[in-house]
Amino acid sequence: MPIVSLKDGVENACAFHRCVLAHPRAVNPLCDPTHDPTRLSWVPSANAPGAEFPVQNLPMACFLPPRIDAVRGYDDQADESLRVGVAIGEHVLDLRLASTLCPWADEIYPLLEPLSAGDLAAFMALGRPAWKLLRAALSAALSEGSDQAPFLDMCLWPLAQVRLAMPCRVGDFTDFFAGIHHARATGALARPDNPLLPNYQWVPVGYHGRASSVDVAPAVRRPMGQLRTADGRPVFGPSRRLDYELELGLWVGADNPLGQPVPMERAEDHLFGITALNDWSARDIQAWESLPLGPFLAKSFATSVSPWVVSWEALTPFRRPFVRPEGDPQPLPHLDSAFNRAWGAIDIHLEVWLRTAQMREKRMPAVRLSHSNALDLYWTPAQLLAHHTSNGCNLRRGDLLGTGTLSGPRPEQAGSLLELTQGGRVALNLPGGQMRTFLEDGDTVTLRAYCQAPGARPIGLGRVHGTVLPTP
Ligand code: CA
Repeated sequence: MPIVSLKDGVENACAFHRCVLAHPRAVNPLCDPTHDPTRLSWVPSANAPGAEFPVQNLPMACFLPPRIDAVRGYDDQADESLRVGVAIGEHVLDLRLASTLCPWADEIYPLLEPLSAGDLAAFMALGRPAWKLLRAALSAALSEGSDQAPFLDMCLWPLAQVRLAMPCRVGDFTDFFAGIHHARATGALARPDNPLLPNYQWVPVGYHGRASSVDVAPAVRRPMGQLRTADGRPVFGPSRRLDYELELGLWVGADNPLGQPVPMERAEDHLFGITALNDWSARDIQAWESLPLGPFLAKSFATSVSPWVVSWEALTPFRRPFVRPEGDPQPLPHLDSAFNRAWGAIDIHLEVWLRTAQMREKRMPAVRLSHSNALDLYWTPAQLLAHHTSNGCNLRRGDLLGTGTLSGPRPEQAGSLLELTQGGRVALNLPGGQMRTFLEDGDTVTLRAYCQAPGARPIGLGRVHGTVLPTP
C-alpha cells in the first residue's frame, strides 16, 4: 500500500501564530471603526500577537460560568441557566453581568436584554441594524480608554473556566456541496471520466440534514450501520470508514416568511454569523444507503460546530471578489448581484489536525492533515442562502447551512480522509509510525479556521474538537 508522509505537517506550525501584524490602513471600503487594526483592548490578552479573539472579532457564545468563584465569592450552584458572552482575548465578557453592572447608552439596553437572558436566537431575530449597533457599542466599551472599563472588568470570566454550550437550538440543518474540488475529487472516485455532474456549475447542490445531532460536544461515538460485505450482502456493525469533513457553517439570523424568496441583494441581511463545522461521515454506511437517495444515517449521527459564532460584520476586512474560473458559466440572474461579484467571497483559512491516542500517550503534538481556504467555494454564502429560499422556502433564526467540504485543488488541501487517502487506497503515514486510512477510536480531529489579510487584524473562528469514542 503506498503511503504519504505527513512529517512536514508537524513542523508546519500554525500560520495563524506566525502571522505578523501589518496595519497601515483599512483593507476595503466596507470597513468601519470596529475593524481598525490599530484598535487595542484594555484586556491585555486580546492584544497578544496571534490572539484569536482581539477586539476586532467579538464572537458570541452561550456559556455557564464557573460554579464557584473565589474572587467574587460567587457560589451559586443552582444557577444553571445559560448566558451569552463575548470572547475578548482569553476572557469572556458576561453580558448578563454587563447589562446590570455597567452603564450603556439607552438604545443598547434593549439589545442586551435577550442576551442577558441567554437567548442568542432572540437577538439574531433583531436583524442587521441591531447587530451592527451592539458590535459598535461592545467594540468601544472593550477598547483602550473606555469609561466603561472599570465596570466591565467585573464582568469577565477566564475562558478556561467557563463551560461553553451550543449558541442556540438549531432549527434546520442544510448541508451544501459547494466545494468544487471536493466535488471533483469524490466524483472521480466513482466516475473517473466524468467527475463533475452537469448540474454542478449551475445549481448549488445540497440536502436537508439532521438538526438534533449538531453539537459542540468534544466527542463523537462511532456509529453502527449497514455495511456492504465482499459478497454484496450487508451486515449490521460499527462503521469501519469513519471520516470528517472540513466545512464552514452559516448561522441564519433574520427569518424570511414562507413563500417570499430572499433576493441576492438582501441575502447577507439574513446571515448572522459563521462557524467551523465538522460533518462527520461514515463512508461505508453512506456507500450502501445512498442508492439512490442522498445522505441519511451516514451523516445524521453527529455534526460538530464551534461554540463561538463569529459575526458577519467581523468578516468584513476579509471579503473578496467572487470570480468564476475563465470559461465556467456565470450564475443565473437570481444568483447574481453586483455586490456579490465585488465582495461575495470570504478569505478564511481552514486546517484539519489529527492527534491519535498513541500520540497523546507519547506526548506527541497533533499533526496537520490538510489546509484549504473558503475562497475555493464555488458558490458564495449569499448565493447559498438566496438559492435555498428561491422556491419560497422559509429560513428561520437558528437555522444552520453547511457549505460542504472545503478542499483546495492540491492533494494536501483535501478536506476529508476520503480524498486524502483516495477512497482508502493510499494510507497516511503519521508521525510515530502509525498509519491511517480512516479514523480509529481515540483519534481527535480538530478543525481550525482563521482570517488574516494585509491591513487587518487577524481573527480566529475558534476550534472544533472531536474525539472518536468506540461503539458501545
Ligand atoms: Ca458535508
